[in-house]
Amino acid sequence: MNSNSGPKINRRDLLKGIGKGSALVTIVAAAPGVAQAATENKVRFGMVIDVRRCSGCQACTIACKSEFDVPIGASRSWVEHHEAGVFPNTEKRMLPRLCNHCSEPPCVDICPEEGATYKRDDGIVVVDETKCIGCAKCVEACPYDARFMNPFKGDPALTKGNGAADKCDFCLHRISQGVAPSCVNTCPGRARIFGDLNDPSSEVAKLVAEFDATVLRRKDKTKPSVFYIGADWIESKNDRKAKQFSRVDTHRNERSTHRFA
Ligand code: SF4
Repeated sequence: MNSNSGPKINRRDLLKGIGKGSALVTIVAAAPGVAQAATENKVRFGMVIDVRRCSGCQACTIACKSEFDVPIGASRSWVEHHEAGVFPNTEKRMLPRLCNHCSEPPCVDICPEEGATYKRDDGIVVVDETKCIGCAKCVEACPYDARFMNPFKGDPALTKGNGAADKCDFCLHRISQGVAPSCVNTCPGRARIFGDLNDPSSEVAKLVAEFDATVLRRKDKTKPSVFYIGADWIESKNDRKAKQFSRVDTHRNERSTHRFA
């Protein structure tokens, strides 16, 4: 693990709900997915990504790879570059990516092994590599290409040499100590903000409430806990078609293709 501890972030945002969610809030925002979770009256960790503040420097990508010794060709968190337009009227947009910690995660539903992957009470979707049998069904089921098989993880006797499923866990080892996830800590533009979506006083809840935050692949109804500000274009097929958007994947293997919205 990377020893970079970074600045302590608001422990109120973080420690209230590690493990079992403590009683918190009543209502948050008129944002899809958030208000519904708020009625459950417990912590729901999430991230807001303000793409207007992302320069595409990939500092978050590198920090994450370093934090978890992620193998070459795979990433738990990464940044896509999207290009649009016709020369000379072109533009470039960034789209930081990670596991969306869906409230209704298809990866968990499809896993045949009890406890190998599950959603915690605080909303974080995790993998238990000691139980993973390496079938890779969750990798296929995730509509966000957030998972990959890590050949350096898992019990070889269980996984038959396939390795274990791997993905972002919001830096559970860090946030349990009240420290921000590595990508959040590293981002020089503060494009990534982490906290409790169900706490109306948290920065993430305020941002989701204030801005017209959106989620990726809304139509899949997975209810992501990762919200985007300034990324309305990801859902506008007309916009994408008219402007001829194309995606440049970065730091990902061949399988991580083209399903972002
Ligand atoms: Fe599972 Fe993919 Fe949703 Fe993450 S983004 S919770 S891996 S379905």
